[in-house]
Amino acid sequence: MPELERYQILIIGSGEAGKHLAWTMAQAGHHTAVVERKYIGGSCPNIACLPSKNVIRSAKAHWFARHGAEYGIKTGPVSTDMKGVLDRKRKMVEHGVQFHLDRFRATGVDLIRGEARFVSPKTIEVHLSEGGTRAITGQRVFLDLGARAVMPDIPGLRAAKPMSHVEALDLDRLPEHVIVLGGGYVGLELAQALHRFGSAVSIIERGRQIAAAEDPDVAQALVDNFKSEGIEVLLETAVRKVEGVSGEGVRIGIENPRGNQTLMATDLLVATGRTPNTQGIGLEAAGIELDARGYIKVNERLETGVDGIWAMGDCAGSPQFTHVAYDDFRVVRDNLNGGSRTTRDRLIPYCMFTDPELARVGLNETEAKRRGIAYRVAKMPMAAVLRAVALGETRGFLKILIDAQSERILGFTALGTEGTEMLAAVQTAMLGRLPYTTLRDAIFTHPTTAEGLVFLLSSVPAEAESAEGRSSAT
Ligand SMILES: Cc1cc2nc3c(=O)[nH]c(=O)nc-3n(C[C@H](O)[C@H](O)[C@H](O)COP(=O)(O)OP(=O)(O)OC[C@H]3O[C@@H](n4cnc5c(N)ncnc54)[C@H](O)[C@@H]3O)c2cc1C
Repeated sequence: MPELERYQILIIGSGEAGKHLAWTMAQAGHHTAVVERKYIGGSCPNIACLPSKNVIRSAKAHWFARHGAEYGIKTGPVSTDMKGVLDRKRKMVEHGVQFHLDRFRATGVDLIRGEARFVSPKTIEVHLSEGGTRAITGQRVFLDLGARAVMPDIPGLRAAKPMSHVEALDLDRLPEHVIVLGGGYVGLELAQALHRFGSAVSIIERGRQIAAAEDPDVAQALVDNFKSEGIEVLLETAVRKVEGVSGEGVRIGIENPRGNQTLMATDLLVATGRTPNTQGIGLEAAGIELDARGYIKVNERLETGVDGIWAMGDCAGSPQFTHVAYDDFRVVRDNLNGGSRTTRDRLIPYCMFTDPELARVGLNETEAKRRGIAYRVAKMPMAAVLRAVALGETRGFLKILIDAQSERILGFTALGTEGTEMLAAVQTAMLGRLPYTTLRDAIFTHPTTAEGLVFLLSSVPAEAESAEGRSSAT
């Protein structure tokens, strides 16, 4: 064992939570190390949020070029150069990596590149990327291990070498026909982008609807949008077996209420969820407990059961978004500084960057009913939002839930152009506990999508109704 190196702050994983904590602690004068095995800055800037949005933007550029005539623009034949798409993404990722390296250097963090493995509580062995090992101990240890794509246990699937989002975002060729397993946000975003580039795309979803957390009308509108673009969506469909190799050709045996069938495609993309990176790194040697799904057990201050060890972000079972990982960092930081911040009752918004976008904060109808919360609902088509009309992007709708007894906003869903930006206005009102009438009576700039909130909220029914007997302003 090499000589033991001692740090005050030891962070494993340089993702969103880990890097911000490292920069903050080092700047405050603590001797700080971050161990990172692969992605400098974590998943978000390398293989997840930012690369996917970058590629989705290229797909939108393709879409605009093909629909130029609708805007009075003449274009010639349009095709995709996947090498160009990849090059654009790579440049952004490289720029991001350099930004992170510079920041680690400037803040005085020791960035150690290699895989960490616990050998005892608070002590790890690092198998360095460049070869060799280091032994490191931290007075305080923070785990930001992240998560990775799940590989479902389907006969032939692993042998078929399917793409995950990592390979799909690194394609330098255009697949002819991609089957996407999974109708969650990762699968849906990539399915639409690949289809817009020119691939035939079929989505296979096991459940009764795609976007499982959304109301049925939202999921149905998403399906309608996808189908109108030419994407095949198969619901309530189980994959029985897979033959062949992704990239060369695959045969997928499926079963659904319509019977058994075999689908042929050139490529397979698996997007069926994520699992934490908590196995095989000796967490048991540190006495760190996992829950039944493999996430690190933490309390609402993100402390593990071991004194002086915290876990943050995806690996701690927090909702799997970069903005939540960032808030996990703030919870830990503030408590280290003597505060008392917790993960309890966080209002967590999220967005799916399909076109049109889906943005959501707070309760939807399904959840309100499940919890027995009586609500009023207003729903308005995007076609009634003048900004959407001017942009020529009128697909989708807005939907807001208001408490039955008071003027409190319970939740908001936007399926529509710029919905992700509109979301922040509603979220701010919810955080400030503003009555919905404040937004309704506000003067928003014309023509912005936020202006649509005035008209949406003007149609909130006055009558309070029960969770069963909801009222709708549609
Ligand atoms: C395709 C895709 C698109 C997404 N889009 C969005 C989006 O638009 N918006 C959004 O908010 N979220 C999005 N997400 C989710 C988001 O990427 C994650 O929730 C977020 O990156 C989690 O951050 P983290 O800090 O928990 O972990 P990560 O960023 O995953 O960081 C963990 C790091 O730990 C390292 N590591 C793990 N084990 C070890 C070890 N033993 N030794 C050393 N290093 C180790 C890993 O290499 C990794 O770099 C997306 C995810 C995917 C897959």
